[in-house]
Amino acid sequence: IHRIREKGDRVKKHHVVHVNSTHYGGGVAEMLLSITLLMNDLGIMTGWRVIRGIPDFFTITKKMHNALQGGPFHMTKHKKQIYEQVVFENAARTHLHAHDYVVIHDPQPLPMIEHYTRKGTWIWRCHLDLSNPHKELWNYLRDFINKYDAAIFTIPEYSQKLHIPEFFFLPAIDPFSLKNSDLTEEEMQDRLKHYNIPTDLPIVVQVSRFDRWKDPAGVIEACRIARKKADFTLVLLGNAAADDPEGTEVYEELTEKKDERTLVIPHGDDTALVNTLQRKAHVVIQKSTREGFGLTVTEAMWKGTPVIGGRVGGIPRQIDDGVNGFLVSSVEECADKIVTILGDDELRKSMGAKAREKVKENFLLTRLLEEYLDLFIKYSKD
Ligand code: UDP
Repeated sequence: IHRIREKGDRVKKHHVVHVNSTHYGGGVAEMLLSITLLMNDLGIMTGWRVIRGIPDFFTITKKMHNALQGGPFHMTKHKKQIYEQVVFENAARTHLHAHDYVVIHDPQPLPMIEHYTRKGTWIWRCHLDLSNPHKELWNYLRDFINKYDAAIFTIPEYSQKLHIPEFFFLPAIDPFSLKNSDLTEEEMQDRLKHYNIPTDLPIVVQVSRFDRWKDPAGVIEACRIARKKADFTLVLLGNAAADDPEGTEVYEELTEKKDERTLVIPHGDDTALVNTLQRKAHVVIQKSTREGFGLTVTEAMWKGTPVIGGRVGGIPRQIDDGVNGFLVSSVEECADKIVTILGDDELRKSMGAKAREKVKENFLLTRLLEEYLDLFIKYSKD
């Protein structure tokens, strides 16, 4: 903390602004909520702006998001026009000329840089799993990206050989936030009762935006197989971010697929419920098929709950396979690991304890804050 405060003093009174496209739902908003407060606490004048747009804009940017994670994309003049026009309108009403550091998060506000005479340092922070981005789309976006002073990706595997310096920051959680701080047994029972979540059997949980990359249908299938050998309740808790128009469709598909021991709960904005389920679960699943990092994995591990995660993107940075959780590449493997954890209490507890240690050492917000400070100091013009 002392070291962080000293570094903070070197950029004290500087103006920082973070720009993204949603104030809630998803890992980016989750981190910005806390890190902007910590930066202000250090005396760095840090703001947070959220861009607005018509539904068409978010439909297009969600398609871009999917394509950057390896999905298909059909680039048209019309899509480019809407994307660039809405970003231009946001730039017109957002005054970022005088800031010392502007951190633009993800592709939605990326072209904002076109519309400013810049004084400070502009950084593009991309949180997506860029292991296999759609080529044509990437080529289009790269012209905007190369106008920045630097880019931050989550892990070196996402590096894109840009003309600007690239940095790699792993995300982190705030252990004191409502989502991650301790709860009393009474508080947890209250949430479980409120949503009629039965506790007669062990609980298996996935907490995720209703998004196909999180593979909730694969989780239901894995649990169907696992039920042949173990009895448990599956809870799929989800929400939809303001910049993600696909949530309702995915949610409806799931309600059709589920069986009577599966609950699909769309009240993921209830932070205490997220916290409760991550604590009460015998095992948390994050069976993503693409995942920039996966803060839900970090959050569950911090609570001493072992996680079965997809062997993709940032998840293997968190889960050491067979040590503090399991990594899986298929529905069958996932089913198998659910049965293993539910059948071995000692393994479950020891994995959970190691999971918490892993987060304590690597993924708390102070580490991320210091990385930002180092970057700001590096680009400081004082
Ligand atoms: N989240 C939540 N409720 C939900 C689903 C997700 O509060 O129903 C939160 C979750 O706790 C985490 C963030 O949203 O803090 C998701 O971050 P992650 O990196 O796992 O995935 P993203 O949604 O950014 O792809």
